[in-house]
Amino acid sequence: MKYDYLIVGSGLYGATFAQQAHTAGKYVLVIDKRPHIAGNVYTERIEGINVHKYGAHIFHTNNKAVWDYVNHFATFNRFTNSPVANYKGELYSLPFKLFIY
Ligand SMILES: Cc1cc2nc3c(=O)[nH]c(=O)nc-3n(C[C@H](O)[C@H](O)[C@H](O)COP(=O)(O)OP(=O)(O)OC[C@H]3O[C@@H](n4cnc5c(N)ncnc54)[C@H](O)[C@@H]3O)c2cc1C
Repeated sequence: MKYDYLIVGSGLYGATFAQQAHTAGKYVLVIDKRPHIAGNVYTERIEGINVHKYGAHIFHTNNKAVWDYVNHFATFNRFTNSPVANYKGELYSLPFKLFIY
């Protein structure tokens, strides 16, 4: 079979390009050296929990077209990122606010 594109890497970039090219009627072959798709955003289901194998990922965009696009392929959890730092037993919200007196 002949392909229009050989895409090396099935992360967000490769997967998006492959999907868009396929939608445009192109034949694509996606290869990856890892034994799974999704690149760094890959999750493994462990005891019923999606565990981010390569580190936690949060999807954020203020672009409605991007948001509508990704929602074609996955259901997202609502999540508000509100990290805190523990310094000598006191909790501080991040990012730190600087006060000038
Ligand atoms: C710990 C961590 C946390 C992050 N958190 C966030 C976050 O919260 N929000 C956010 O927006 N972004 C986050 N990022 C960034 C995000 O992961 C990347 O921007 C995104 O995954 C990049 O996608 P990509 O397709 O370009 O690359 P990748 O996801 O790295 O995919 C590339 C793929 O190509 C494959 N590949 C590479 N070379 C070859 C080869 N020679 N032959 C075959 N296959 C190959 C790799 O195996 C991989 O699967 C985080 C990154 C890390 C590491």
